[in-house]
Amino acid sequence: MRAWAKIRKLTGLMQKLRTALTAAILATAVTGAAAAQDRDDRYITGTISPPAASPGNAPEWSGESGASGHPLMTAPAIRAAAASFPICLERMWPAAARRGVSRETYHAVTASLTPDLRIMDLLDNQPEFTKSFWDYLDVLVTDVRIAKGRELLQKYRATFDAVEQAYGVDRYILAAIWGVETNYGTIGGDRPVVRSTATLACIGRRQNYFREEFLSTLEIIQRGDVRPDHLVGSWAGAFGPTQFMPTAFKRYAVDFDHDGRRDVVDSVPDLIASTANNLRKDGWVNGQTWGYEVVIPATLNFALADRRQAMTIREWERVGVVRPNGKAFARPDELAYLLVPAGIQGPGFLMLANFNAIMKYNPAEAYALAIGHLSDRLRGGERFAQDWPRYERVLSRNERLELQQLLSQQGYDIGDPDGHLGSKTRSAIRDFQGKIGQVPDGFASAEVLERLRAR
Ligand code: CA
Repeated sequence: MRAWAKIRKLTGLMQKLRTALTAAILATAVTGAAAAQDRDDRYITGTISPPAASPGNAPEWSGESGASGHPLMTAPAIRAAAASFPICLERMWPAAARRGVSRETYHAVTASLTPDLRIMDLLDNQPEFTKSFWDYLDVLVTDVRIAKGRELLQKYRATFDAVEQAYGVDRYILAAIWGVETNYGTIGGDRPVVRSTATLACIGRRQNYFREEFLSTLEIIQRGDVRPDHLVGSWAGAFGPTQFMPTAFKRYAVDFDHDGRRDVVDSVPDLIASTANNLRKDGWVNGQTWGYEVVIPATLNFALADRRQAMTIREWERVGVVRPNGKAFARPDELAYLLVPAGIQGPGFLMLANFNAIMKYNPAEAYALAIGHLSDRLRGGERFAQDWPRYERVLSRNERLELQQLLSQQGYDIGDPDGHLGSKTRSAIRDFQGKIGQVPDGFASAEVLERLRAR
């Protein structure tokens, strides 16, 4: 067994860390001007794992209706679906059979299966307090993680050589994904993927999506790619050191060590090559970086800082965006979008095609930036040159709702207040900041809230 597999069991400290980290990111990882859109669905279906239950004191389902208000998330609906869980499982058998799952396998996997209802709380989790972008980077890109990553790059050098050759994906990005997703396989969660995906396929508001994940899990078991008792992971069913969802496994996993099994949990060659294959198919451009740290001029039109508004590097230079070290950009015709997580007081980032490939792997910008930055540090690169506004407090969920209500009272169209600072809210904040003489960067600071309250 590999070293990282041996220490897969969570330590108390790591558990706490992951709990704080993932609970927060589920609500909103982003507090800045270029917040990620559509966060809820993509987080749920992505590779971010909320805390795994710790053995022995795993919390039970709260018994409460979910915060989403979805009819399938009410407490009675959850109880009713849980009661017919065995029937639901049996109904999926024909679909499993069509995928080559034997009756024997199906029976062995589902016979004594019970739903993990705690997942319903996690599915609708809306934490009150959230972390800042810089907190995520502090936690995910540490000296320890850099040292460990370099150690693994050295230890598996021959494998990384072969994978780079075969897939054209940078080894430092692969090691960084390994490091950010699970701290190199040490904090990936310990929920059985079969149970999690079966629960979500039969109960709650994402059944269609998770039916496919459950059936894909059965296929993995039928083929014997991964040891069934090692098929454990996040509550959403992501497993292995780089957190493959079962359907992503089907699309991307490869047998790089040629033993006949695509084992992304216990074979390092399979794990690294499968992750590389995933990135390549998601558009990774060989030999290029993910993006650049940039200095933002106060005169910038911050409406441009939006993932949907890519411009060429040359155009960004024209509006005053520069690199902090005075270096030139490599390819002026390349398209990039501008991410400004903390407004004018923090660093900006011009994101290239490879950042989009990382975002497809993990759709949370804070995580994707951590992956990019960790890869640079593993390569020997520097810390970001600019400071984050660490004195800024991240607004709580209630404060974000209040901010939206106050903006609405000021006549701004921000849609329905939902605590998510989307483009309408950010646009309203920018306009309001202009009125009160602040740099209109769209950053939802505590001061903006104070000034709105004083109106
Ligand atoms: Ca293999």
